[in-house]
Amino acid sequence: MKQNDFTNNPYLLLTPGPLTTTDTVKLAMMKDWCTWDDDYNNIVQGIRKSLVQLATKSVDQYSAVLMQGSGTFSVESVIGTVVPRDGKLLVIANGVYGSRIVKIAKTLGINTVVIDSSEVEAIDLNRLTVQLENDSEITHVAIVHCETTTGMLNPIEKVSEIVKRYNRVFIVDAMSSFGGVELDIADLNIDYIISSANKCIEGVPGFGFAIVKKDEFEKCKDNARSVSLDLYDQWKTMEEQNGKWRFTSPTHVVRAFAQALKELEEEGGIKVRASRYKNNQKVLSDGMKKLQIQPILPEELQSPIITSFYYPNSESFDFKVFYHKLKEKGFVIYPGKVSALDTFRIGNIGDVHQKDIEDLLKAIEQSSYWLDTVSEK
Ligand SMILES: *Cc1c(COP(=O)(O)O)cnc(C)c1O
Repeated sequence: MKQNDFTNNPYLLLTPGPLTTTDTVKLAMMKDWCTWDDDYNNIVQGIRKSLVQLATKSVDQYSAVLMQGSGTFSVESVIGTVVPRDGKLLVIANGVYGSRIVKIAKTLGINTVVIDSSEVEAIDLNRLTVQLENDSEITHVAIVHCETTTGMLNPIEKVSEIVKRYNRVFIVDAMSSFGGVELDIADLNIDYIISSANKCIEGVPGFGFAIVKKDEFEKCKDNARSVSLDLYDQWKTMEEQNGKWRFTSPTHVVRAFAQALKELEEEGGIKVRASRYKNNQKVLSDGMKKLQIQPILPEELQSPIITSFYYPNSESFDFKVFYHKLKEKGFVIYPGKVSALDTFRIGNIGDVHQKDIEDLLKAIEQSSYWLDTVSEK
């Protein structure tokens, strides 16, 4: 079904996420489901199986657990369940989401160390090696894959190689990349990968999930610092009771997610979706450069998910004015989050295609009210 036929969305969300979903995903929510009936639980089991298949070819080594709440709840449930009381977590942080992992761990009373990296430069892998070499107390290492703050794609292959050389457990927040960037968690030696319903799988918000390496996760019974976010208990219940969630689950969201997974497959799987996102990002970035709006990251660090741009070089640029002009034309964009720079962000995940990006670029050109006053570079 074509976007907007049913819902008549007044604008396209270029904010990952929630993001723009297809009407068929939204329509899947038009039915009420019983949470303990087989029909519903079979849908949950199908989702769990598909998620593992999307994550790896080594499906026997991994299992998927779903968790109520936004993506952060799933991050918190992983951190709070997999790091033991006497464990120590090293977080490589280069943006808001990396810092959030640190905050979660510290709030839970977990012994935590941080490699604080620049938001706009590649992380220094040497620091990781030195830290692991010198601190044998560190048991777990966590990193964000696509740092949605800037749009930077962190080099998880290289990080994994170091983490596993020192034999530590590896946790990846792949919230905004899972389903939109090709990877195999077994090849990458990832023990826990986390994402949510409303990012690259293109569902609606309401739950997150972790894909766990089973032999590692089996060690995590009674670790949890929270009842509702006890990922191990949630997993055991889903395993032993055919996909049952311990507490009320977001039934409509789950149904929509099953539809979103079907549409991912129909599109051609992650490979095809990833190339759609990559193309969206390239068309956007090239078009913006022509309008003299520059991305903040060099191309080699840029993810296909979301792009941060410097404000145009003009005194008269005002993000709020720009935002509202674009919203009137049918596009909602994101403010920036980089601490030291004036930036805004445009996401290109969701039911967003090249034509949408081209229309957006036209709208931006028409909204470039500051161009008359652009100062000479
Ligand atoms: C979206 C996102 C999250 C989770 O955010 P919520 O608002 O809790 O859904 C976590 N990490 C990254 C990298 C994200 O992009």
